[in-house]
Amino acid sequence: MENRCDVNGVNKASCYLNSERKQSRSPSAIVIGGGFAGIAAAHALKNASFQVVLLESRDRIGGRVYTDHSFGFPVDMGAAWLHGVCKENPLATWIGRLGLPIYQTSGDNSVLFDHDLESYALFDADGRQVPQELVQKANKVRHETTEDMSVAQAIALVLERDPDLRQEGLANNVLQWYLCRMEGWFATDADNISLKNWDQEVLLPGGHGLMVRGYRPIINTLAKGLDIRLSHRVTKIVRGKKGVEVTVNNDKSFFADAAIITVPLGVLKAKSIKFEPRLPEWKEAAIDGIGVGVENKIVLHFDKVFWPNVEFLGIVSSTSYGCSYFLNLHKATGHPVLVYMPAGRLAQDIEKMSDESAAKFAFSQLKVILPDVTEPIQYLVSQWGRDENSLGSYSYDAVGKPRDLFERLRIPVDNLFFAGEATSIKYTGTVHGAFSTGLMAAEECRMRVLEKYGDLENLEMFHPSMDEEAASISVPLLISRM
Ligand SMILES: Cc1cc2nc3c(=O)[nH]c(=O)nc-3n(C[C@H](O)[C@H](O)[C@H](O)COP(=O)(O)OP(=O)(O)OC[C@H]3O[C@@H](n4cnc5c(N)ncnc54)[C@H](O)[C@@H]3O)c2cc1C
Repeated sequence: MENRCDVNGVNKASCYLNSERKQSRSPSAIVIGGGFAGIAAAHALKNASFQVVLLESRDRIGGRVYTDHSFGFPVDMGAAWLHGVCKENPLATWIGRLGLPIYQTSGDNSVLFDHDLESYALFDADGRQVPQELVQKANKVRHETTEDMSVAQAIALVLERDPDLRQEGLANNVLQWYLCRMEGWFATDADNISLKNWDQEVLLPGGHGLMVRGYRPIINTLAKGLDIRLSHRVTKIVRGKKGVEVTVNNDKSFFADAAIITVPLGVLKAKSIKFEPRLPEWKEAAIDGIGVGVENKIVLHFDKVFWPNVEFLGIVSSTSYGCSYFLNLHKATGHPVLVYMPAGRLAQDIEKMSDESAAKFAFSQLKVILPDVTEPIQYLVSQWGRDENSLGSYSYDAVGKPRDLFERLRIPVDNLFFAGEATSIKYTGTVHGAFSTGLMAAEECRMRVLEKYGDLENLEMFHPSMDEEAASISVPLLISRM
């Protein structure tokens, strides 16, 4: 470890991969971040005979996938759904191989997440239905203007032009509740969501399914055998002709041919990692321009089930901020658990509270609809917006910003490769999106490094999308729906 590395003519006392590389001439890479993108990338590069070290700031892997077991059964505090329960889903092979059951919460072709009305119990009955016309007119505004505007502005414009569509009382409340669901999908308020781009991602067929045993088994399987350094927070990345030098918080440095950066967009926005030389302007513009929102989970564990047997319990209100919903985990897992899921400004406001106050707030919402509820026996609260390792839940299309920013975030800079949900053009904000970008970055990195080594023979040998074993076995998914 005392050998001296040289990235750009600067000597450093401590490095990791360089000495081994010089002896064996085997290509090397540093993967930064141990979420789905990072683990997928490291797994793929290891299979391609790279020396790989993965640096992760937390004391656990998984990132925004975190399956908690403190209730004695799995509860996903981050991602919980597989969006697109079908064999085309990049994660289907792994889920099938591990025999993980999936509980389907909505059918095919749902335009917005879980918009399957049979699954809901909306309280305050006797409402008039929100006319479908309103939605169609909002879509018309979108195609009429070249200027982008927010979804909230588009709705206001439609109502201004056609006041007959204005809803009063309960019908308006139901409309607000739909907006609240949309805000949950994008983790931000409707006045931040781009009208032009909000639905440009690809929805895989098969509807949405909850991972009944959590996402953890997949990430643990992918991580097997990898050299993962936990509690290693990257603070500086220096790129040069000979390679990349990555420094962590204890000043230790790692050196390799290339690096794959998978830290969340919120972390890149916060500029807590210093790049030398500075990233090009187009990359910085992509980091600034893509939105990142907040969605959280407040999980309430009761001693018994006292609520109706539906997938969601919703509360409607005259503003989307006042609306909310609980996911009924009992349907999927058999455990008496409700998950309150605030998003956008509401989630940020709740993050200012202590965990105990946040749990009390969620419980008070439940009391609105079920006045005789008993207190929860346990609770869990996530704070993805405040956590310095995520600084947000997932990315969204901000108003007035081109959709190609996601691609620009992905495009490599010299020997730095970028992956993670916010670099996925097709599957932005999802686990399978993060996973796919990790594989893609690994493949690009492999090609670039082997080219540099002049090792063209090996360029064709590795399967880009998944390892050979996984690719050759197709196992049907275990899907249930009560
Ligand atoms: C509440 C919530 C619900 C969600 N629900 C769903 C869902 O149901 N289905 C779905 O598909 N997706 C869902 N998502 C989105 C999904 O979780 C993410 O898109 C995906 O997990 C992101 O993976 P990633 O690898 O890009 O990033 P991450 O998982 O965030 O991984 C990045 C890693 O980088 C690490 N890191 C940060 N800073 C540093 C540093 N300086 N040095 C080293 N390491 C660092 C982090 O600790 C983290 O482990 C949800 C997210 C949240 C928060």
